[in-house]
Amino acid sequence: MKKIAMKTPLVEMDGDEMTRILWKMIKDELLLPFVDLKTEYYDLGLVERERTKDQVTFDSAYATQKYGVAVKCATITPNKQRVEEYNLSQMWKSPNGTIRAILDGTVFRAPILIDSIRPAVRNWKKPITIARHAYGDIYKATEFRVPEKGKAELVFTDENGRETFRQTVYDFECPGVLQGSYNKDNSIRSFAHACFQFALDSKQDLWFSAKDTISKQYDQTFKLIFQEIYEAEYEAAFKEAGITYFYTLIDDAVARVVRSEGGFIWACKNYDGDVMSDMVSTAFGSLAMMTSVLVSPDGKYEYEAAHGTVTRHYYRYLKGEETSTNPIATIYAWSGALRKRGELDGLEDLVRFADALEGACIDTLNDGIMTKDLVGLVAEGTKTQAVNSAEFIRAIRARLQARLGA
Ligand code: NAP
Ligand code: MG
Repeated sequence: MKKIAMKTPLVEMDGDEMTRILWKMIKDELLLPFVDLKTEYYDLGLVERERTKDQVTFDSAYATQKYGVAVKCATITPNKQRVEEYNLSQMWKSPNGTIRAILDGTVFRAPILIDSIRPAVRNWKKPITIARHAYGDIYKATEFRVPEKGKAELVFTDENGRETFRQTVYDFECPGVLQGSYNKDNSIRSFAHACFQFALDSKQDLWFSAKDTISKQYDQTFKLIFQEIYEAEYEAAFKEAGITYFYTLIDDAVARVVRSEGGFIWACKNYDGDVMSDMVSTAFGSLAMMTSVLVSPDGKYEYEAAHGTVTRHYYRYLKGEETSTNPIATIYAWSGALRKRGELDGLEDLVRFADALEGACIDTLNDGIMTKDLVGLVAEGTKTQAVNSAEFIRAIRARLQARLGA
């Protein structure tokens, strides 16, 4: 069979531990036999990040700006224990944080659904995609334990040193706590653009929620910026695509989401997105079935799995034990990136290959062949066969070959 050709290279970001093992298996079994794979390879494994003083992470993000589409393997975010384990000279920052900051991107997370795994919320039939504004609010807040009686004030001094705002937050008559958080108009704007673009790209309605009735400046600013950008730049395109944008209060949104069928994007402020994405992914089944894509406001895409490097499985793998780690979300990172590359470069074969690869994953799962994490989740009465990662990927390959008619 003739291999499918590519034009522009994908930015390939390799990673750590069990997902690094899966990465190679996926390439060898499911990609290289079928596609004349063109990638610009960046090794974001912790060993190489240490060797390059993390320069490789920055370079991979710049390459994504240049080429437009990246696929990333899960990576270790070092903590104290990792500094010892890998003998690191520094506690390097999270690669995802670095890449997100350079691309000024928003993360969209969506579950992969199969018939035999029913969401905990019975009426959910289509995926719910969460868009989380990953900047500011409590994640960049300044906090203070108020130790005694006293007055807390909010003060703003302009760049000429003039105090232009001062307001009492609270006159403390006893000890307590105090927090100052902020956000920036340009970050909120980028978030809004990424959400509107992703909605158009994926032809799904966009919901945005905050609490502007209570937070009359802070949350209100988010609401107004979204509305202004929508009306000025996206309203016509949304109408043409037959999709809608609507804003509602976060508590109303939660109630509507639970009653909905799914099939839309829910844009959330930072904290809401943190909490709601865990709720939504758990209710849909498993973290191993969650995809994640970082979208920049100027339309660059980085695809990855939502889960981490699956450390516990890796330690078992190193001891020579069999592991049944689920590669689905990582395979979907590849199919998502290849499809996007195909669309941008006008390569229909590549788009069809991405569809076939995802179809082959679903065929395999529908045949009851799955990794152990999924077996406990399927509906009663479904016949299943638990396999290890290598067997699972081989089963997908057989179905991929069938779909490609090879
Ligand atoms: P994790 O790698 O997501 O794994 C947590 C647990 O979830 C696993 O032990 C496993 O449960 C289950 N799981 C996750 N993915 C699975 C899969 N594909 N197949 C089967 N089971 C799966 O999270 P973690 O253990 O908290 O973090 C491990 C490392 O990943 C850390 O160093 C962290 O910094 C990094 N991390 C990276 C990213 C990223 O690069 N985007 C994201 C999150 C975490 P059982 O053990 O019960 O089977
Ligand atoms: Mg969370």
